[in-house]
Amino acid sequence: MAKSNRRRRLERSKRQARASQKRTVAQRRQAAEETVRVVLERYDRLLDPGTPPAELADLLSEHYDGQPVSSRLAARMMANGSSPERLAGVAEVMLAGGTADRCTPSLTALTFAAAAARAAEDTGTARRLLDQALDATDDPDTRIYIIEHLRASGHVADAIELLEVRLCEAPDDDDAAERYGVAIEEAYAHVNDESAAGGCPCGLGAPWQECCGPRERAALSRFADRSGLIALSDAVSAYLATSGYGRAVDDRVAETLPPTEDLDWSPAERAALGALAAEHALLTARLSADEETEDSQGPLGPPDADDTDTPLAAFAADPSAPAELAARAAAWREHIHYGLWRIDGPGPAPGLWCTDITSGVTRYAEFPAEFTDRMPRWAVWLGGIVPVDGIWRSTGQGFRLSPTEGDAAAELVQAAATTLIHAMAGKPKKPSRLMTEPVRFGRAEPLGVYVDFDDPASPHMASLLGKVTGVLLPRIVAEVQLHRSAPPALRNTDGDAMCLITAQIRVSDAEQAARHLVARPDFERDADDQTRVAWYGLRIPAAQRAAMLAEARAQLRADRYLDADIEDPSTPQRWIRGTLQVRDGELVAEVNSRQRLTRLLDVLARIGADPVVTDEKRIDPAQDFASPAGEDAFPRGAAPPAEGWEKYWLDEQVPALRGRTPRQAARGKERPLLEALLRQFEYEADLLATEGKSGVDTGWLRQELDMGHDPDD
Ligand SMILES: [Zn+2]
Repeated sequence: MAKSNRRRRLERSKRQARASQKRTVAQRRQAAEETVRVVLERYDRLLDPGTPPAELADLLSEHYDGQPVSSRLAARMMANGSSPERLAGVAEVMLAGGTADRCTPSLTALTFAAAAARAAEDTGTARRLLDQALDATDDPDTRIYIIEHLRASGHVADAIELLEVRLCEAPDDDDAAERYGVAIEEAYAHVNDESAAGGCPCGLGAPWQECCGPRERAALSRFADRSGLIALSDAVSAYLATSGYGRAVDDRVAETLPPTEDLDWSPAERAALGALAAEHALLTARLSADEETEDSQGPLGPPDADDTDTPLAAFAADPSAPAELAARAAAWREHIHYGLWRIDGPGPAPGLWCTDITSGVTRYAEFPAEFTDRMPRWAVWLGGIVPVDGIWRSTGQGFRLSPTEGDAAAELVQAAATTLIHAMAGKPKKPSRLMTEPVRFGRAEPLGVYVDFDDPASPHMASLLGKVTGVLLPRIVAEVQLHRSAPPALRNTDGDAMCLITAQIRVSDAEQAARHLVARPDFERDADDQTRVAWYGLRIPAAQRAAMLAEARAQLRADRYLDADIEDPSTPQRWIRGTLQVRDGELVAEVNSRQRLTRLLDVLARIGADPVVTDEKRIDPAQDFASPAGEDAFPRGAAPPAEGWEKYWLDEQVPALRGRTPRQAARGKERPLLEALLRQFEYEADLLATEGKSGVDTGWLRQELDMGHDPDD
């Protein structure tokens, strides 16, 4: 499986530094670079306005090899100085080449000629050539590129209609599904564009409202229309009520749901899980006890493709079911993908881009409006997405998880899938501890970050992961619920409960107190600001420091953060416990726990400074940021980030960053963990915003840490 391969790859690179492996990588890279160089040189000549038309026609045929040209090629050539006349000349040579050989023009010639006609604003000819190209091929993958030309030339409605046809036949065509999403977003933009009174983007001359407008609106209506899904659900419900399958579903739900008394949650939440479990039982419940035992070969018992004794399969095969509904039931059964869908957006458009963080499958899916409107950044939707007449939709049942909850759940799914694969291969292994121990909320690998850097799983593997996710739904939801009901407390590096305090301390003589403090080994004057005194924690022994540094450097290389490096600190590395500043004859102390303030006051008393706290400001993080507890987001204090919680957090050792501080993590191998944590803050900030509160100022943190959204930045 892709994810476990990746993890193994990471493990391997952790041990890394094997010279032979490095050599192989270097050779492979060299070969790849050579290929890239040749292609780029050819591409440069394609773009060069000085290349003679006949040579250009040959280069295009060589580069695209009979396949459609890129829909952006003509625009790039024009940007490099080619005129529409020059493109037309090349197109003429290419089209004539086909005729001379007494065969029809290639798709390369047709699509290039269409692009050239579009550049010359001859939209009628462009359209005719693209239609000719579409007629010339049945190959779905090739047609996708021609459809892309249609969309790029403003024929959005035509592109959507053709993609819908393709997706009805093959809902899992990832490329078609993605381009459909892009086209739907484009139609949505047209509908909401006030200035659309002008000519239609397709260039045929009429206003958009009278030209492609009505068909684009119709496509959006089809996208938003859940009636096909509702009709199917209603019919299946009626079928369950009148057949033995209703009972089978109820039994299955009763088996899979955790006992009520184990979980402290609302009836609404429990009902939601019940509905989700019942939906999943449509794929797994059985009528007869015999087959039930057969199914018990493994705890994961993935539904067998040939299995017809499950409710949805029986409905699809029922002669009295209307053909249209039976077909939808069959498509549901074959294609439904239960996943941990990271919401990539959310954008303003009618659907949501979502990526299953276990398999890497990406879909543009329609969700009921009540979910779309309440989806914070980076939310993870645990539920099924199903194609209905070619359009991917949320079934409407599911749970919204936070990014860290999603990572922990994904880790469980991957461990279960690995166990299952070993069992299927006849090499059963003892289940991983991930399977038998509580889900590792806040400690899991940042899979939601990694997924963008890995190839999606193969269709078979994605399907298996989807099935495993479906089977594990009740356990994931129950564990999330438990986790949310018991948020762990936030601790600083001394293990004290974290509480950010700025205290104004009156002392007998502030300057003298500062001098006495810096005479101690754990206090030190700030080199840049003599009014400031830092209070240090334990020293890290030199040998341990050297080992940490060597390890970190090796990691940076292994993780290919080649440009990054960790400075060798010339002074002994220690954790800062707090700072003191002499201001207006008093001391201003900044510490991050009640206990530290008490200890500081003890020290001041011992040096005879007679400390009295005259003012105290506190920011009380009510929950553990290292392992944030789901929906209970933490509203930030009133202090601006440069003085408040955010400032302290940057230099605090964070358990979720394996004990590194955010500033260290940003430069080291924990960068993906830090990215995951920042996303969690962004998610929580979005949740708080709906209540009119503000969360952590992640924008400020990202700036301080020099981290854009992309961890490779
Ligand atoms: Zn039009």
